[in-house]
Amino acid sequence: MIKFLDLHAQYLGIKGEIDAAIEDTIRCAAFIGGENNERFERNFAAYQQAEFCVGVGNGTDSLEIILEALALPKGAEVIVPANSFIASSEAVTRSGYRVVFADVDPVDYTLDPADVARRVTSRTAAIIAVHLYGHPCDMDALLSIAREHDLKVIEDCAQAHGAEVDGRRVGAIGHAGSFSFYPGKNLGAYGDGGAIVTNDRELALRCRMIANHGRIDKYDHRFEGRNSRLDGLQAAILDVKLRHLDGWIDRRNAVAAAYMRGLKDIDGLAIPTIRRGHRHAFHLFVVRTARRDELARHLGEAGVQTGIHYPIALPKLQAYRYLEQYDEPMFANRADVELLSLPIGEHLSAEDAHYVAQSVSQFFS
Ligand SMILES: *Cc1c(COP(=O)(O)O)cnc(C)c1O
Repeated sequence: MIKFLDLHAQYLGIKGEIDAAIEDTIRCAAFIGGENNERFERNFAAYQQAEFCVGVGNGTDSLEIILEALALPKGAEVIVPANSFIASSEAVTRSGYRVVFADVDPVDYTLDPADVARRVTSRTAAIIAVHLYGHPCDMDALLSIAREHDLKVIEDCAQAHGAEVDGRRVGAIGHAGSFSFYPGKNLGAYGDGGAIVTNDRELALRCRMIANHGRIDKYDHRFEGRNSRLDGLQAAILDVKLRHLDGWIDRRNAVAAAYMRGLKDIDGLAIPTIRRGHRHAFHLFVVRTARRDELARHLGEAGVQTGIHYPIALPKLQAYRYLEQYDEPMFANRADVELLSLPIGEHLSAEDAHYVAQSVSQFFS
């Protein structure tokens, strides 16, 4: 069986380091804040090439905290891709803003800048640029729209730790970046976790205060915030895993390259492309075919686990029917029946990748 994800195998590969980090944290009782967190925040900021990093409770909170810290005008519109996980849009509504879905590009599935430009109004205040599946958005185009209309750009990097645009890591290319350390992400904790990165010192401080009851000192609360902290055990675990992340992303890229070699020129199957100068983090390897469900069944019978990201486009979810975008002829409204995620990860050997590619080719021949 070729597993979609194998977190146990990953643990076994680094067991000594992880166990030591957990033991250390418990011995020092460094459960909230302290040296573990400071070290991880420093290392993760450096890894993402950002000046500041603030650990938070999860990736949804990190989006909400950034939105709150940016203090957009009341009732502002925020543009979100129609193909993403619900957290990308949920954070907008929960922060008191209005979601405006924009279509995604039918080739790389990230925000289509032309559609974003069409949806900008006088009330638009920000864009959530989701680097979906680990592939960076077209940041040049999005930043130029943002400059023209004075919009904030928040990068949702939940799937894109380590991804790059022209040698620059994602996260601090826009105003702020949001990361999730949900266990299945490329950099995953052993529970929930998240982080905010930015090059804006004021914004980083505001985020840190919002995430910690609005305080800057133990009982010096400047305003009401909330409790959303990265706990010390998770910080210790993440700091160990961060040392391995580049190697794991390289492995993901090797598996992706094997798939791309094995699956090119198949009629009726579109494979991922990587925009020039980008480093894809390959959180997911997503193919597109009109025969999606049949292919998934065929692979299941061949012992290959697959996934669907996402089975219902955001505008079609009951939560968003009030926006009345569910029947717009957007590509995103069709993506949910044509996209299939093949297994990818450092747990796959070259033989596994070869077997998966062969099983897919066999289906189409
Ligand atoms: C996972 C994910 C999130 C949310 O992260 P959590 O840590 O689960 O709250 C946000 N956006 C995207 C695109 C995600 O994939």
